[in-house]
Amino acid sequence: MTDPRTSERSNGESPSPAPTQPSTSTSTQAIHAGERRFRAHDSLTVPIVQTAVYTFGNTGALVEYLEERMFWDEPEREEYGRYGNPTVRAAEAKIAALEGGQDAVLVASGMAAVTSTLLLMLNSGDHLILTNECYLSTLEFCRKFLRRFGIEATVVPCGDYDALEAAIRPNTRLIFSESPTNPFMRCLDFERLTGIARRHGIKTVVDTTFATPINLRALELGVDVVIQSVTKYLAGHNDVMAGAIVGSYDVITPLRQAQAMLGSIVDPHAAYLILRGMKTLALRVARHNANGLAVARFLADHPKVRRVWYPGLESHPDHAVAVATLRGFGGVVSFEIDGDAARAHAFIDALRIPTVGPSLGGVESLISPLALMGFAQVPPEERLALGIRDELVRFCIGVEETDDLIADLAQALARI
Ligand SMILES: *Cc1c(COP(=O)(O)O)cnc(C)c1O
Repeated sequence: MTDPRTSERSNGESPSPAPTQPSTSTSTQAIHAGERRFRAHDSLTVPIVQTAVYTFGNTGALVEYLEERMFWDEPEREEYGRYGNPTVRAAEAKIAALEGGQDAVLVASGMAAVTSTLLLMLNSGDHLILTNECYLSTLEFCRKFLRRFGIEATVVPCGDYDALEAAIRPNTRLIFSESPTNPFMRCLDFERLTGIARRHGIKTVVDTTFATPINLRALELGVDVVIQSVTKYLAGHNDVMAGAIVGSYDVITPLRQAQAMLGSIVDPHAAYLILRGMKTLALRVARHNANGLAVARFLADHPKVRRVWYPGLESHPDHAVAVATLRGFGGVVSFEIDGDAARAHAFIDALRIPTVGPSLGGVESLISPLALMGFAQVPPEERLALGIRDELVRFCIGVEETDDLIADLAQALARI
């Protein structure tokens, strides 16, 4: 790629594009994409450019910059920290390469990615359709917050494509969905989804945080915009928050311009942690996938476990779609302990490796009873209607040794 956006710029060095050809594997891309080959001060790693302000040598340089900006949306240098930063741009270019998108914008959190995308792609009087297993904050934003701007949302059951098509109105502009979903790991049939959207001239936005670009490249399956909570697998170490929006220049350029106003930018230090985390993305996701499948199979065979939701199991309602679209099934396994809340809590408390906490996608395993974590604010009847029973446990598996995790589950189940 010769696009300047893929190279970090500084000190007038000659640009040297990184190997981001489509033929390189995601593993190689995760390490090299988005980074220029020779960097400032001969540093191997992308420098953290910790500045809010970029200076001009003289007024002539300023005039030249302004002229460049008239012809290019993004000139070859930065002006002010809210408009751009070289460390952030390297992280954005790496994410774009991994997703197979033309461009990506990095924002302060996954929710900032969701809200800024929806605010930019929808106008007052528009209608959008969401699938019901979306991230709760996303659902709340669409159902309550967007209504203040005269934007209506219809929620349809995930996996019901007839209901999805029936919900389309003349003013429907956007379909928002997730794949795999939280906590039941429903997986989208992208052919059906994008087929419906295309027939009606509607854009599709899909949050593929649970899959990562290693397991799923939704842009290649016809989706218009992909959203990632970078906080999860991409950064991967439970130590930084960010979100990404990936797509074509038509979508991303206006989003980048809006971002200069909306202001939910990522700090250069956070961008560095994301770049560093992404170097091992393919390795980590391979381990998450292996751990997920092994744990799901172990739990499915255990007499004290009532039911397991994992798309890699044949018993999962979307197993066929998952096999057709995913390159791995991820590290999240949801299951019900055969018993009540007290028994599920006793099981969780008997575990030695995972700790109780929200989130997913980091190297450390995390576990939670979902009725108390993430869904605690939902009234009990509504929670039950969503299928969130008190004994439902979500295990967000890290990259620990598979046998250690299985042994830990076995000893905890033996104690209840
Ligand atoms: C965590 C998460 C989000 C929100 O991301 P933050 O970085 O926490 O703002 C959105 N979508 C999904 C699927 C998530 O798991």
